[in-house]
Amino acid sequence: MSDIIRLLPDHVANQIAAGEVVQRPASVVKELLENAIDASAKAITLIIKDAGKTLVQVIDDGKGMSTTDARMAFERHATSKISTAQDLFNLATKGFRGEALASVAAISHVSVKTRREEDDLGTQIDIEGSKVTSQEPVVTPQGTMISVRNLFYNVPARRKFLKSDSVELRNITNEFHRVAMAHPQIAFKFLNNDSELFNLPSGTYRHRIVNIMGSRVDDKLVPIKEETELLTIHGYIGKPEFTRKTKGLQYFFANDRFIKHSYLHHAVVSAFEGLLADKANPSYFLYLDVPTDSLDINIHPTKTEVKFEDEHSLYAIVRATVKHALGQFSIDAIDFQKDTELDLPYNIAKNGTQAPRIDVDPDFNPFKADGGLKQASGNANFQSKATGSWDTLYAGLEDSSTMNDESSLHPDMETLFSKEESTDKNIFQLQRKFIISTLQSGLLVINQNRAHERVLYEQLLRQLTVQNGVSQQLLFPISLERPLEEVTILSQLQAELESVGFLFKTLEKNLIEIEGLPLDLKSADVEGLLDSIIRFQQEELPETNFSHVDRLASRMAASMAIKTGDALNGQQMQQLIDELFACKEPELTAQGRKVFINITGENLNSKFN
Ligand code: ADP
Ligand code: MG
Repeated sequence: MSDIIRLLPDHVANQIAAGEVVQRPASVVKELLENAIDASAKAITLIIKDAGKTLVQVIDDGKGMSTTDARMAFERHATSKISTAQDLFNLATKGFRGEALASVAAISHVSVKTRREEDDLGTQIDIEGSKVTSQEPVVTPQGTMISVRNLFYNVPARRKFLKSDSVELRNITNEFHRVAMAHPQIAFKFLNNDSELFNLPSGTYRHRIVNIMGSRVDDKLVPIKEETELLTIHGYIGKPEFTRKTKGLQYFFANDRFIKHSYLHHAVVSAFEGLLADKANPSYFLYLDVPTDSLDINIHPTKTEVKFEDEHSLYAIVRATVKHALGQFSIDAIDFQKDTELDLPYNIAKNGTQAPRIDVDPDFNPFKADGGLKQASGNANFQSKATGSWDTLYAGLEDSSTMNDESSLHPDMETLFSKEESTDKNIFQLQRKFIISTLQSGLLVINQNRAHERVLYEQLLRQLTVQNGVSQQLLFPISLERPLEEVTILSQLQAELESVGFLFKTLEKNLIEIEGLPLDLKSADVEGLLDSIIRFQQEELPETNFSHVDRLASRMAASMAIKTGDALNGQQMQQLIDELFACKEPELTAQGRKVFINITGENLNSKFN
């Protein structure tokens, strides 16, 4: 038998290597942007078509390449950035492996135009699947333009593996954010299908963060700064109220490179301890600078996971610095260095604000025996002392009429049971949470919030399928600013949102403008609802088999439903009960939680033996 081991041809080896470096269009974006930065560009433009599947193009005004270098750049292990293995421990550049361009060229159609300052003519090289198809001199500005077309054209399995345009665009946008935030001194532009998504002038770190995240973050940022021998740290942490239920805006950079580091992340989170609501995630934008030889970026092919020397000390410094900044902030809660220039002319939901409301009972008089039935739930102990009357038994049991009716000020048995809706139909509200109704067989205890959620859910589902939602026109349109990817998520849901009654004037770039709302939605709740829809979409990628419509309906129902703590009158309770039992599945909420329980006479009997 003959020998069977062969060396793989170069283009096959490159294709295999490409699998490590290039998983998706966003990987190409990252590599090309980093090369432009390493070439000392001052302005970088990123242009993509169809979420990078058709085209990824990066244009820089950096130092350019000679003809020979331009050709060499596409060879595997061809790099100008390191020459010995020792250099790996002293990296001052983004690239160093010399495999990005070779990998990209193996799986796409690449065209490069480049010129150095000292050359009159530049060079254009075209490559298809690692093969150079043309090379000629060309007139071109100083710098480099690389166009990558038809990514994975010769690796169909990979191409099939790509996600929807919206998901790939989100990945690219994330990558772009990370690079742009690490280099505020470089101007960036980003265009997708000929529309400009970002135009970021060079400026301070704060400018850059605000330009990317939207001006609403500006007054939420607390600056932080610390210099020690081991590291210097600067950047911003989000004020404790600027948190998110899902992942916050959390960015670590080490030596100008975006990194992920769960240990240091923990240091930041633990510094917030006690300041955050349960499950809330702090936001931070932290820039660490460490000596290059104490940072190992070599451990991961895509170079986001890194290793520091002496991580324990870094942990302590990061935690203490963040704690200190938070302490400073809460002492003199002023807006540090708020940059007024950055205020964009968008106003956030002006008409959504409401004056705080305090419920006061003007007739309450603690010295009168009949002073306070309205206090029945709020101050039952006091009442029992003052009057010693039996009605403390009903503490917490709020008849609708006691909440909303003048005549309820007389705490005798008559008024407690005399209102039509409560006596005839025997409906009570308990702790502003439960609706209690008597049945032939016993007691029905309904969770008001869940019941309403069920009702709204079924109603919204109907509207979404037959698209007959009713809209209330807003006198003052609501305008909100959100990061691009969040607006993109909403624009993908635009048809559905409109079928339940939303009317959008604008839904692009960073801007959301709403002219009409679903009938039952209060403008004050809009922001919370949209955020929760966005979060939900982000958590469960559209690829999962959850139905779009289902998810939207359940999100909206949850945020529009009557809440625990809302007082209901008898009529409202009756209507809710009627609507609930007209539902297809009254027993459970969309998330499968119990809506009501039934306490039978037998149940009760068993408690009395
Ligand atoms: P690495 O960045 O790891 O060195 P790459 O394959 O990304 O490897 O690039 C190979 C080489 O091509 C780089 O070392 C650099 O010399 C050159 N190069 C790539 N992109 C550019 C650019 N935009 N401007 C100037 N030189 C570039
Ligand atoms: Mg590179």
